[in-house]
Amino acid sequence: PLSAQDVSRVYDGLAVVSGVSLDLQPGAITALLGGSGAGKSTLLRLLAGLEPVDTGKVCLGETILSEPGRTLAPEKRRIGLIFQDFALFPHLTALQNVGFGLANLPKDEARAIATQWLSRLGLGARSGAYPHELSGGEQQRVAIARALAPRPAAILMDEPFSGLDPSLRGTVREEALDAIRAAGVPALLVTHDPAEALESADHIAIMKLGRILQQGKAADVYLKPQGADIAAALGPVN
Ligand code: ATP
Ligand code: MG
Repeated sequence: PLSAQDVSRVYDGLAVVSGVSLDLQPGAITALLGGSGAGKSTLLRLLAGLEPVDTGKVCLGETILSEPGRTLAPEKRRIGLIFQDFALFPHLTALQNVGFGLANLPKDEARAIATQWLSRLGLGARSGAYPHELSGGEQQRVAIARALAPRPAAILMDEPFSGLDPSLRGTVREEALDAIRAAGVPALLVTHDPAEALESADHIAIMKLGRILQQGKAADVYLKPQGADIAAALGPVN
C-alpha cells in the first residue's frame, strides 16, 4: 500500500497538512473529501513527491519515498497522476501522449500497450488526434490511459472529473474508475463532491483544516459520521 504516516507541511508557520496518516489499499479507491483550502491537494502533492514533507513519511510498502530532508523525485515513484486540467502534451497525439511513460520499452511494444489502453477507454478510433481535436471527456480519458499505461504502483487524482460537462462526467468517471480498480493499485480521488465520493469510492477520508477528521469504509463514514463537521462535509445526498 501507499501510505502517509504522520505527515505535515508548513507554509509560513502554518500547517496546511497537519499530522495526517492515510493508508491507501491496493484495488480500492479512497476518496479524500473536504472543503476548499482543507489541504487535499497539498496532501496529494506530498504523496506524489511534488513537495517535501516537513514531518512524518510517505511509504510505498516498506520503501520510504519521503521523509524530512529527503524526497524521492516524482518520476522515480511509479505513481500515476491525473489532474483536473488533463495536462496533456499539446504537440503529441493521443497515442503519443499515452506512450510517453513507456519510452523505456521497445517502440513496437510501447505502441501496442498505448493502443490497447486507448481502446479500453473507448478511444481506439481517436489515437491519431491531437489534444485540441478532442473533447474534454476524451482528453481526460487520454490522461487516464497515460497514467495507467506504465503500470504504476499507485494512482493519485485531483478533482479529475470536475472540469467535465455534467452530462458526460458520470460516464467518464465510471469508465475511468473501473479501469483503475481493474489495475488493482491503490488509488486516491480528491474531490469536494460528496455524491461522487459515495458513489465511486470504497473508502472515504474527510479533511478539514489540514487534518483528517474521519476515515473508513464509505458506508461506515456515511452512516456513522463522527460529529457535525463530518455530517456537514457529506452534505445532503440524493
Ligand atoms: P480546493 O478544494 O480549493 O482545491 P484544497 O483542499 O486542495 O482546496 P490546498 O490547495 O491543499 O487545498 O491548500 C490548503 C491551504 O494551503 C490553503 O489555505 C492554501 O492557500 C495553502 N497553500 C497551498 N499551497 C501553498 C503554497 N505553495 N504556499 C502557501 N500556501 C499554500
Ligand atoms: Mg485542491
